[in-house]
Amino acid sequence: MAKFIFVTGGVVSSLGKGITGASIGKLLQLNGLSVTMIKCDPYINVDAGTMNPIQHGEVYVTDDGAETDLDLGYYERFLEIPMTRANNVTAGSVYRAVIEKERSGKYLGSTVQVIPHITNEIKERFKALSKDFDVTIVEIGGTVGDIESLPFLEAARQMRLDCGQGNVIYVHVTLVPYIPSSDELKTKPTQHSVNKLREIGIDPNMIICRASKPLDADIKAKISLFCSVPREAVLDAPDAPSIYLVPEILHSQGVNEQILMLLGIRAKRHDFAKWSAFTEKIGKTEKTVNIALAGKYVKLKDAYKSVGEALFHGGIANNAKVRIDYVDVEDPDAEARLRAADGVLVPGGFGNRGIEGKIRAITIAREMKKPFLGICLGMQCAVIESARSLAGMPRANSTEFDEKTPHPVIDVMPEQKDVVDKGGTMRLGACTTLLSPGSAAAAAYKTITISERHRHRYEFNPKFVKALEKKGLKVTGWYKDRKLPETVELAKHPWFVGVQFHPELKSRPTKPHPLFVAFIEASLKAREGKKEA
Ligand code: GLN
Repeated sequence: MAKFIFVTGGVVSSLGKGITGASIGKLLQLNGLSVTMIKCDPYINVDAGTMNPIQHGEVYVTDDGAETDLDLGYYERFLEIPMTRANNVTAGSVYRAVIEKERSGKYLGSTVQVIPHITNEIKERFKALSKDFDVTIVEIGGTVGDIESLPFLEAARQMRLDCGQGNVIYVHVTLVPYIPSSDELKTKPTQHSVNKLREIGIDPNMIICRASKPLDADIKAKISLFCSVPREAVLDAPDAPSIYLVPEILHSQGVNEQILMLLGIRAKRHDFAKWSAFTEKIGKTEKTVNIALAGKYVKLKDAYKSVGEALFHGGIANNAKVRIDYVDVEDPDAEARLRAADGVLVPGGFGNRGIEGKIRAITIAREMKKPFLGICLGMQCAVIESARSLAGMPRANSTEFDEKTPHPVIDVMPEQKDVVDKGGTMRLGACTTLLSPGSAAAAAYKTITISERHRHRYEFNPKFVKALEKKGLKVTGWYKDRKLPETVELAKHPWFVGVQFHPELKSRPTKPHPLFVAFIEASLKAREGKKEA
């Protein structure tokens, strides 16, 4: 029988439900169970693809090309298994499916309603995914009490009825605020949010408290009494120095043993060695490296979440702490900060704003011979920079930013020309790239056939490849029989790599991404070189 853990959030959003859920998942996985996770997003967007990263954080892309919530990134990084379209259930996709069924006559004769039609659609998705796993963890986005998340909570409530008591448990992640004037942690908001959950018919089995300080025994006893949860099931999740330490923090409080008992599962093994080998290195790195991340969504760090994580993983692999300077390329001090960095990374992005600043950042990296990693838009900007600075095409551009450019070095390909709808129509998901032997990319990957995830509409226009190669910007990776350039590298530069795909999405703590490892290694070398000079 499939087992489910539903994770809900109380009091405020951004409590780290995703990390908490993924940490529970990791612990169960280390106990030898197969675990998957689902993120329920209560918004009406069919997927996250059309959302602004400043509002919602980065759009995460899976191998099968789904544009999802960034929590799927946590799931993949913690569980180290690939997620798919089925792991993200949005209200928009549920309503769309139900309305399509209604139009095709599937419900003939019925009045189509939230209960049972919407809730059935949601439950069917939970059940379909759970078939291949011992445990399915479902994170319900939003905060208990929001109007939007009600159908998901209702579906979660019904799941216990459908699957039986011992097969479904509820974990509530809540905030216990600290009031400095009275030097007290307050439990009232948690009591209210648990009451709200009960009104919906969900009785939590476990409460995980987020607080700026550890909770003392009295506070836990109070929460236990008022919320009717056993004392040992009221747990602490204080802010951790690294998100990757959360599984161990929860483990030290017996979370997995309690969950296994509640679900009536026996642990198959207890194999923490590989994961601990990674977490033991956190905070103990001996070197430091400064990376400038030259972007435009820098006000919300979540907008570049996976890039930040991949840099962290690459740092650990090099025994280095990576200090990321999130540079808004439009800020007056951008240039000075870029010049001071050991390595420059230009990430993905959309739209005109900040483009000239990113190109300027690349000029600095090229001229100062700083290691450079360009991702998607960052790679496209590197192509524009080389065209303008090296190949005598001063007005070279992408047609995304200048439709009339005389040198459209980045352009839409025929298959994208007639696309009208914006949602889900880019080049999305995993594609295979063939790398040139001897290139920096091939050296990093230690292989020449790779698969990476894409999310873009524009491409390096193959018509310009020859002209740019002559001037030193080499294409070192191709998609499909040299149809589209995938990676570019600058000759006569210590490490300058642009990639049309998003390598950051495939970096994992115990499997750091080779390009990030190589980029950090090159940046450390550049730093050493600076010291010696
Ligand atoms: N805006 C560019 C494109 O659509 C790059 C996208 C990206 O960086 N993800 O091709």
